Amino acid sequence: MANTTAELEALLMQRSLTDPQLLAAAETSADYRILPDATVVKIGGQSVIDRGRDAVYPLVDEIVACRKNHQMLIGTGAGTRARHLYSVAAGLNLPAGVLSQLGASVANQNAVMLGQLLAKYGISDVTGAGLSAVPLYLTEVNAVIFSGMPPYGLWTRTAGEGVIPPYRTDAGCYLVAEQFGCKAMIFVKDENGLYTGNPKTDKDAKFIPKISVDEMKARGLHDSILEFPMLDLLKAARHVREVQVVNGLVPGNLTRALAGEHVGTIITAS
Ligand code: ADP
Ligand code: MG
Repeated sequence: MANTTAELEALLMQRSLTDPQLLAAAETSADYRILPDATVVKIGGQSVIDRGRDAVYPLVDEIVACRKNHQMLIGTGAGTRARHLYSVAAGLNLPAGVLSQLGASVANQNAVMLGQLLAKYGISDVTGAGLSAVPLYLTEVNAVIFSGMPPYGLWTRTAGEGVIPPYRTDAGCYLVAEQFGCKAMIFVKDENGLYTGNPKTDKDAKFIPKISVDEMKARGLHDSILEFPMLDLLKAARHVREVQVVNGLVPGNLTRALAGEHVGTIITAS
């Protein structure tokens, strides 16, 4: 071990940080999963929380019941209010970094609301730096709520087109799962999963139970039920190499998905 560290250190002192030999040396130790028993659950903004009590109360009950058997990091989406903000801000010619901050404020609002509903069960929402306390929350109460927007803010990478931040809450929640090396990633939305077309507008859309990232792209479905940059994140993943999208409006689906059952669409890295 000491040898590997010494070799890597020598390379780091001499080479560019993207040197192939250096990158290979940095890869020699086995991947380490920080929170291998936890599942990240994203509660959709537009698809779930914006529907209010009918959609949210049953999910709150399910979360409370499930945390007896499962460790959950619960991330929130932004949704309709963020879309409204994006339209106003884009109309004012404000940049993507500002829109990212505005979107984050809406995901925060949803985390605050979910946090209040779960407060009496001892489940808290954590903001920003609070993520460092996640292990403690998980150990104590098996669940924690976080705001799903990745904190790129003003440092949002400039996209070729438009000012809508490309990495929003699907990507933000997924990256938490991947970085922590979590057991699974479940997206709770308002459709049974992925279809051949948007089921809200396409009557003939057919359900797809399982699909790979490459197949999704080949079938022109890259910009559908998940934010499109998610697919490349998934493809490059070390830990979380598949995600499941489930219909959170159907009671029991989240519980079953947490137990590892296939109840929605599973999207695989390869
Ligand atoms: P969230 O609020 O969780 O971010 P979104 O509303 O952004 O969820 O994304 C989910 C929506 O994606 C579904 O409600 C559905 O209308 C839409 N959608 C578009 N194309 C598809 C597709 N091919 N299959 C399933 N859903 C699709
Ligand atoms: Mg969305």
